[in-house]
Amino acid sequence: MAGNQSLSIVMSNRLANPEHSIDLNGITEPDYIEADDEHVEVGAMARHRDIETSSVLAEELPVLPASAEQISGPVVHNRGTLGRSVGEANPAGNYPCVLVAMDGALELSSVDGTRTVDAADCFVV
Ligand SMILES: Cc1cc2nc3c(=O)[nH]c(=O)nc-3n(C[C@H](O)[C@H](O)[C@H](O)COP(=O)(O)OP(=O)(O)OC[C@H]3O[C@@H](n4cnc5c(N)ncnc54)[C@H](O)[C@@H]3O)c2cc1C
Repeated sequence: MAGNQSLSIVMSNRLANPEHSIDLNGITEPDYIEADDEHVEVGAMARHRDIETSSVLAEELPVLPASAEQISGPVVHNRGTLGRSVGEANPAGNYPCVLVAMDGALELSSVDGTRTVDAADCFVV
């Protein structure tokens, strides 16, 4: 679980009952928001609140904080993460259509390695 704002709903509706759960909140490395001359990068554990209030994003990619601002109320804002929001690919989710519209890409990592996939190849919009 990251922000546990989606998983808790799935579990409380008995749609999932995982035997084990792993709390990702001790992993601090992927919560960065950075920009250089060519790219803006947002880590998977960045919270909606981090995105909404980021001065880097306000300057470089203001559509992303504007999108985060529209997501639900304070609890979801303070806990929910971009990584799982994108991973869930909910048709009603705010970020996927923004990523596609901005020609964004996702860096996906597993024990087998890391690859980059265009957002347009991940989501049907
Ligand atoms: C009342 C309410 C209203 C909402 N309204 C909106 C809305 O208007 N727009 C919107 O876009 N969203 C909305 N959401 C969803 C919200 O954005 C969630 O926070 C988000 O979709 C899920 O993020 P999370 O970190 O809470 O995920 P979690 O619930 O923690 O995610 C759980 C699942 O994701 C996996 N996971 C977590 N992090 C990663 C990762 N880095 N890589 C791979 N898998 C990962 C976990 O293993 C687990 O399976 C709403 C949620 C609630 C509760």
